[in-house]
Amino acid sequence: MDTLCPLFVGNWKMHKDAAGTASFFESFRQLIGSPARCDVVICPTFLGLETAVSATRGTGIRIGAQNLHWAKEGAYTGEISGAMIRASGCSHVIVGHSERRKYFSETNESVSKKTVAALDAGLAPIVCIGEFERKNAGEVIAEQFSGSMGMLTPGQFAKIVIAYEPVWAIGTGETATPETAAAAHRLIRGQAKGRFGEEAANNVRILYGGSVKPDNAKNLMAEPDIDGLLVGGASLDPVSFGEIVNLSTCEASRTSSVSYAKSSMIERG
Ligand code: PEP
Repeated sequence: MDTLCPLFVGNWKMHKDAAGTASFFESFRQLIGSPARCDVVICPTFLGLETAVSATRGTGIRIGAQNLHWAKEGAYTGEISGAMIRASGCSHVIVGHSERRKYFSETNESVSKKTVAALDAGLAPIVCIGEFERKNAGEVIAEQFSGSMGMLTPGQFAKIVIAYEPVWAIGTGETATPETAAAAHRLIRGQAKGRFGEEAANNVRILYGGSVKPDNAKNLMAEPDIDGLLVGGASLDPVSFGEIVNLSTCEASRTSSVSYAKSSMIERG
């Protein structure tokens, strides 16, 4: 039996320029030690990716983008492809964040195309799903799961990370209780089991996101179905994010039947 090492992802949204990115890592690297005790991915803006990649070389911290286009290249003004992100040294990319669904009209269809494009480029997609209001979680999860990742092959599904992010909890200070979050994670795992089988469902990492802070992270991580956290606001401050990351170690993680331990994380590009 191997372990699913906890994964902590920082989503910086549209914050920090290259200088801010460099200064974050100067403090953060010292706070979390090297190598980090669990899996850590930070997602700066596109303009911060290269600075972040060089600032974290040799630390085990991985870098991800917040979005990609589904085409490999072409006449798509203002867009960036998975291959370009991979070539800049990234290993991950967030796909289908609710802010992209809300402000940039992303649909399950575009999210599914981007998920496949990320995998084709050698990136691990962190696919976000979650209900907008405090109701119908089950229905929305089922619809977004099948629309955003239901068409993957089992081999592709084994390489993704899922983030459950109830939209009402993002940036509002209204974190889901650990019980509510864990219940949603079980629903997602149930969807994964129905579509890809029990082993695949047990081995996919499901992160919780929505107003995670150092003072609520511990109780969320105590839930066996929560495999890590996607953190927005609190990941901008090295001290807060360091406290969240330092709560867990790889050894403390959930047992899984297939190796998805630290060493099997996608390497940097
Ligand atoms: C997010 O950006 O995905 C997020 C969860 O933000 P916050 O932690 O600020 O709620």
